[in-house]
Amino acid sequence: MIQLSNPITYITGVTVNRATLLLQELHIKYCSDLLHLFPFRYIDKTQFYKINQLKPTNADVQIVGKITHIKTVKQKRGSRLVATFIDETGSMELVWFKGVKWIKDSLKINTPYIVYGKLNHYKNTFSIPHPEMELLSKYKRTQQFAMQPVYPSTELLQTKGISNKVLRTIIQNLFLQIEGKIAESLSPSFINKYQLISKSEALLNIHFPKNQESLAKAQFRLKFEELFFIQLQLLRKKLIRKSKLKGYVFETVGEKFNSFYKNNLPFDLTGAQKRVLKEIRKDVASEVHMNRLLQGDVGSGKTIVALLSMLLAIDNGFQATLMAPTEILATQHYKAIVDLLNGIDVKVELLTGSTKAKKRREIHQQLEDGSLHILIGTHALLEDKVVFKNLGIAIIDEQHRFGVAQRSKMWKKNVLPPHILVMTATPIPRTLAMSVYGDLDISVIDELPPGRKEVKTVHRYDSNRLAVFQFLKDEIAKGRQVYIVYPLIQESAAMDYKDLMDGYESIARDFPSPKYQISIVHGKMKPEDKEYEMQRFVKGETQIMVATTVIEVGVNVPNASVMIIESAERFGLSQLHQLRGRVGRGADQSYCILLTDYKLSEDAKTRLQTMVETSDGFKIAEVDLKLRGPGNMMGTQQSGVLNLKIADVVKDTPILTAARNAAIELLTDDPELIKPENKQILNSYTQIQKTSGLWSNIS
Ligand code: ADP
Ligand code: MG
Repeated sequence: MIQLSNPITYITGVTVNRATLLLQELHIKYCSDLLHLFPFRYIDKTQFYKINQLKPTNADVQIVGKITHIKTVKQKRGSRLVATFIDETGSMELVWFKGVKWIKDSLKINTPYIVYGKLNHYKNTFSIPHPEMELLSKYKRTQQFAMQPVYPSTELLQTKGISNKVLRTIIQNLFLQIEGKIAESLSPSFINKYQLISKSEALLNIHFPKNQESLAKAQFRLKFEELFFIQLQLLRKKLIRKSKLKGYVFETVGEKFNSFYKNNLPFDLTGAQKRVLKEIRKDVASEVHMNRLLQGDVGSGKTIVALLSMLLAIDNGFQATLMAPTEILATQHYKAIVDLLNGIDVKVELLTGSTKAKKRREIHQQLEDGSLHILIGTHALLEDKVVFKNLGIAIIDEQHRFGVAQRSKMWKKNVLPPHILVMTATPIPRTLAMSVYGDLDISVIDELPPGRKEVKTVHRYDSNRLAVFQFLKDEIAKGRQVYIVYPLIQESAAMDYKDLMDGYESIARDFPSPKYQISIVHGKMKPEDKEYEMQRFVKGETQIMVATTVIEVGVNVPNASVMIIESAERFGLSQLHQLRGRVGRGADQSYCILLTDYKLSEDAKTRLQTMVETSDGFKIAEVDLKLRGPGNMMGTQQSGVLNLKIADVVKDTPILTAARNAAIELLTDDPELIKPENKQILNSYTQIQKTSGLWSNIS
């Protein structure tokens, strides 16, 4: 008998050579690694499909039917063989690209076959390329009950003879040699409560399921367990932070806050803004360190929440800082906040890459002697020389541009770390937020200020450009301003830059000076030139802003009412949504026009259609997550969600929710996991912590 902690060479059939290859290619060293190498699909020959039951989502299918017709289709290189295949419910195609001549000669017309293979769906026709074929008359019953696992592999493993069949045999041997000795990782009461199957049964059935049902049970158990332990780690981390990490207490709502609220607040706060402010106030009034993510769609009014939070700090004798991802945005925040604070005794400064040395020294001085209350800026804030006397709260706008974990010397003089508020306009789907930011507190502004009209969004082809331009002229005649945005993708920067310039020239022809004035802003310009052009547009001196995506984040020009997005098919959904958020900020009806080529991929069509149909940032984020997967969503890189062995945060949402609730329930009852009935869970948890250990989020 062997142990799971033994190297895989203990397993019959694993030579030193094979072990070396498996380590190198799949990181498999010990028997337990191999046990957790899960099949990514199964060849299921237990089921037969009728053609009219096929769905585009089916993977591999097995069908009984006959070939009625065979034709050879010429294509660019060689030819392809297409057979019409029917059963009593419908017809489909079988397709070959290789060995066409030989296969054509060997196929029998009007004779029952069993075919098996990967199902394709294209233009409403189902087909199987290179199917496995067997005459029904020769079909052996022995094959019939097998559900065979298919394991991840690499080219090298294949060429060195470690085929799927070999892996399967090795894993079979492993099961025989460990004699069912697989430790249970959850407690009996827990397993009972959530109606799970045992760990050893689950592992056996994930490799060698008897049928779909036993497979489903095994998958559920293993996914649930995986997500449960991640949630347990996140929630424990949050508990520890809340009980151990002290934060400054902002006891009073003081004079500056109150006089601002009474005299300077230009509008009533929305219900959502009030609620979020309460949540923040509750955090900073307790002794707990605040680490909060504030999600709010573009235009939902996060800035005022930030300002009020900073005033809370200042009234209690602390300083505050607000960091933005771009110079334009930092400048805009600075101006907006100085405006809002008019008449209130709060000293605010701006620090960016282009702040002059003399001004810089002045700022450093005032920071250290405490006479400066609020410092707004870009990355420049993170320089070593920026040191506050007593920083009470740090607010970070649009975190995905930063990587929040960036440590800072800003608060090196602090006794305690400042409270942290991270604001993002990229809505994160709930499920993802749970698995990535499960240890942060999350506030959501889910209500737009009153009187906003939904931005009318349409999709037009390039050929309609003239009509679109006429529409622009009509809007400009009404005194409105418009954005025209071009894609700028790093990989094709030179080409994109040319597109932008060509576009600019053609717009300049259609919108001649002096009647029309055009601004242009792109990444190759010097910051001060950018700023100058932006300002011309902000002041209304130009009516058209031609730009690359530099204007994506935060820029606020309420008089702008049209957003044209060129080559919209090349933008991701969240970017499109961000760009659209630049308009619809004033009281007038606004428009977003998505211009594209005729040729569109399926994904591009989905993106455009989603934009036309909804302006709900959370819905858009859900679609985005489905299209791109969690790997491309913000913040996921450092999280555990990409290293999941079996669960999938997109597809397994219900299991994720159940697992999180189970973790909450458990920790509520037994925060330290010291009750005897939770012993096994504690053991597994400690083990996981030792081997993986989740990323540490905000310093
Ligand atoms: P974002 O959440 O995108 O940062 P901003 O804070 O820039 O949004 O706010 C967008 C616009 O809405 C600003 O012009 C701001 O003055 C205005 N605004 C914010 N809150 C309210 C409110 N409660 N009522 C009316 N207008 C508001
Ligand atoms: Mg903003």
